[in-house]
Amino acid sequence: MPEQLEMRFWGVRGSIPTPEAANLGYGGNTSCVEFRYGGLPPMIFDGGSGLRQLGLALEREFPSGGECRIFFTHFHWDHIQGVPFFSPMYRPDWAIRFCSSHEPEVLETSLAEQMRPPFFPVTMPAKRAVRSHEQVDGNGLAMDGVRVRPILLHHPNGSIGYRVDAGGHSIVYATDHEHGDAATDRGLTEQAAGADILIYDAQYTPDEYESRRGWGHSTWERGAHLARQAGVQQLVLFHHEPLRSDEGVSAIVKEAQAIFANTIGATEGWHVSLG
Ligand SMILES: [Zn+2]
Ligand SMILES: [Zn+2]
Repeated sequence: MPEQLEMRFWGVRGSIPTPEAANLGYGGNTSCVEFRYGGLPPMIFDGGSGLRQLGLALEREFPSGGECRIFFTHFHWDHIQGVPFFSPMYRPDWAIRFCSSHEPEVLETSLAEQMRPPFFPVTMPAKRAVRSHEQVDGNGLAMDGVRVRPILLHHPNGSIGYRVDAGGHSIVYATDHEHGDAATDRGLTEQAAGADILIYDAQYTPDEYESRRGWGHSTWERGAHLARQAGVQQLVLFHHEPLRSDEGVSAIVKEAQAIFANTIGATEGWHVSLG
């Protein structure tokens, strides 16, 4: 029996955590998605505030230590702010491989910079886990039946998405992307082709987007059209706008379903197994 490609959302909110009651149905933690395949160590995408709970769960699952990879899309706060609170980093029996499209030194410095006085009391070198920093080039990374390929996105200061292929299934993680740049949009459509699941930056409604051009995010409407064009199985609206209540997210999901029927809103704790 082929292995299953599994995915779980630990953080689905955009820009800043929103722990207010009206948002908790979909979730208030910022970007963090976990993938598992076969016996491979967990593959984590982004270190938003959702990374904190994931770290605690990993410590419970692997009480005598373990390893994981954390891939970053970019270094905006909402994608790295969970790193200082990722508990396995404080343990010498854990090995953590940080990955991004940047030079290893840039990756290391970018993560270390948010962890120094006066912004944070514990500096990165004081962490006890074994850490490494790896650059994912355009060819991506192949590991025991899993392939992780980067996708260039359009976002202030840059951002990349990832396509994960394993066991004949595929999931595309495309957050922090503003549509409208023809070459990038074309590249994303090609890379998303035939995926089982497309996770897409749907921060804005089309109306909201008009006054937020250049802020680096897209709309549910573009996501729905992209899902159709790329022929994916399912669209997951992600990076929810902080002002969007559960009611608001449900409303845009409904609108998106009119264009692409198999659309859902990303929900913290949602888990899927493909295969
Ligand atoms: Zn973001
Ligand atoms: Zn961003």
